[in-house]
Amino acid sequence: MIDLSGRRALVTGASRGIGRAIALELARRGASVAVNYRARADAAEQVVAAIHDAGGRATAVRADVTDFDAVQAMVKHVTDELGGLDILVNNAGIIGDAYLMMLKPEAWREVIAVSLDGAFHCTKAAIRPMMRGRWGRIVNISSDAGLMGDVMRAHYASAKAGLLGLTKSTARELAGRGITCNAVAPGIIETDLTADMDEKREQAMLGLIPLGRFGEPEEVAPLVAWLCSDAAGYITGQTISVDGGLRM
Ligand code: NDP
Repeated sequence: MIDLSGRRALVTGASRGIGRAIALELARRGASVAVNYRARADAAEQVVAAIHDAGGRATAVRADVTDFDAVQAMVKHVTDELGGLDILVNNAGIIGDAYLMMLKPEAWREVIAVSLDGAFHCTKAAIRPMMRGRWGRIVNISSDAGLMGDVMRAHYASAKAGLLGLTKSTARELAGRGITCNAVAPGIIETDLTADMDEKREQAMLGLIPLGRFGEPEEVAPLVAWLCSDAAGYITGQTISVDGGLRM
């Protein structure tokens, strides 16, 4: 049984999809959870309500993770409200499809800004309160795309590969402080992010997945919760795929 009682967690991009499932799972395991979102306050409030209904503790917190100052303010607010910060899940991310020849510099910048700059901003802000508690867990939601590359997604794959460098550097730098940092690399998970996949690509991808289906957000969340537990205390700097066997 994974017990996160007494832990205080911040999950970015937790209003929908994988982040939502992670927030619910951490709360189910006993953590108090700050549900970060950028635009959809109603969706974030629904996640908070679901956690409250189940007897848990949660709060919604708006911040665009690309905005350094907004992230500092968010982490301070969350730390004050929850009484500390032990767990950070860098989950916020966006995608976009374009062949390299057509890929606009603004689209490149935007995707990197959310996944990579955002994770850096949140990690930097979260380190201090974690150091104060001499215990911390950081989980970065990367992607198989960061390990394998992806057609029409050079920006996305680069951001997710960059996140692995951040993961290992954070793991090395903070190991002596009782803080671990690992990455989870989902394959294709059914969320808003993947809802627009065209039929041809969908069939091609299904053919590459040994388990023969796409994953659900609830199949990613338990691994994240486990990495945030005491049981995973000797694991740091690792990347674990949740992908039905896609990348083996
Ligand atoms: P969704 O599109 O379903 O949800 C994205 C979440 O990120 C939303 O909560 C959204 O908030 C939030 N968000 C987006 N931009 C920002 C920002 N600038 N600041 C703060 N929050 C932001 O995505 P998924 O659940 O599918 O993906 C979650 C993570 O998992 C991403 O990092 C993604 O790259 C990764 N991943 C997903 C895979 C998949 O197949 N789905 C596969 C591999 C990795 P709001 O609701 O307010 O817009």
